[in-house]
Amino acid sequence: MNVFSTISGIRQYRWADHAAMWGLVPTMGYLHEGHLSLVRYAHQENDRVGVSIFVNPIQFNNPNDLTNYPRDLDRDLSILEQAGVDLVWTPSPDVVYPPNYQTFVEVEKVSKVLEGASRPSHFRGVTTVVAKLFNVFQPHRAYFGQKDAQQVVVIKQMIHDLNFNLELITCPTIRETDGLAMSSRNVRLSANARQQATCLYRALTAAKCAFDSGHKKAAELRATMLAIITQANLARIDYISVAHPETLAELEIIENQALLSLAVFIDDVRLIDNMIIGEPCS
Ligand code: AMP
Repeated sequence: MNVFSTISGIRQYRWADHAAMWGLVPTMGYLHEGHLSLVRYAHQENDRVGVSIFVNPIQFNNPNDLTNYPRDLDRDLSILEQAGVDLVWTPSPDVVYPPNYQTFVEVEKVSKVLEGASRPSHFRGVTTVVAKLFNVFQPHRAYFGQKDAQQVVVIKQMIHDLNFNLELITCPTIRETDGLAMSSRNVRLSANARQQATCLYRALTAAKCAFDSGHKKAAELRATMLAIITQANLARIDYISVAHPETLAELEIIENQALLSLAVFIDDVRLIDNMIIGEPCS
């Protein structure tokens, strides 16, 4: 496995074999099975797999969240080595944003709601760094998790608008056995908070059940999710949403599909999760 912190190192290795098809998995490290599932999908569809590990400071709107974000580069590198990854980029912030850095990428409408409403400038940071990753690696395919559903929508829009010549592959959310979506942030949950954190998945599942049994009004599904989350005494709701899966506009009636999504603080750890319900319109 080849590990570089510089851009020139990545480019040299990336282009050593011009014919190879490359898959890229962008991460912020502290890797878990969710990240590894993306690596496995990338291996299935490409000759070579690259992974980036970079805790991107400009996508954190809360300085404490950035400071407390878990990191363990040695552990991550040994996991990626075992997973057969070819190339890893581990830049420091000044490699990505050198002095006098001035350029940012901002997607408009779809980045302003949900996470974007709660975390102003978050997606500006995400799209800026992902555009740079695409330029540095020039992958044929890039792999992202459905766990961050809005991120997928925003990056798809950026790829379309800026004519990036690659395919975005969305991979399913990997969960713990009790349903909690895997996340690097889960290690920050106390034992009690960890138990209560299952309320997100339980809320989504209950809303899906209500929908499957005929409840098509979005307000009813929001109420179903609210009732479950409020039973958890450590939970503080940031948002509960039933939205169109592409425009992310809040729905009144679900005609075809909907994206159920939640952001909830459990103690002081902010968790997000989501589920798509219904069938795509034919
Ligand atoms: P992160 O390191 O949290 O920025 O995540 C890097 C990539 O892994 C993103 O595309 C995430 O959506 C994806 N990811 C994170 N958690 C999961 C999960 N539980 N299942 C699938 N993909 C995930």
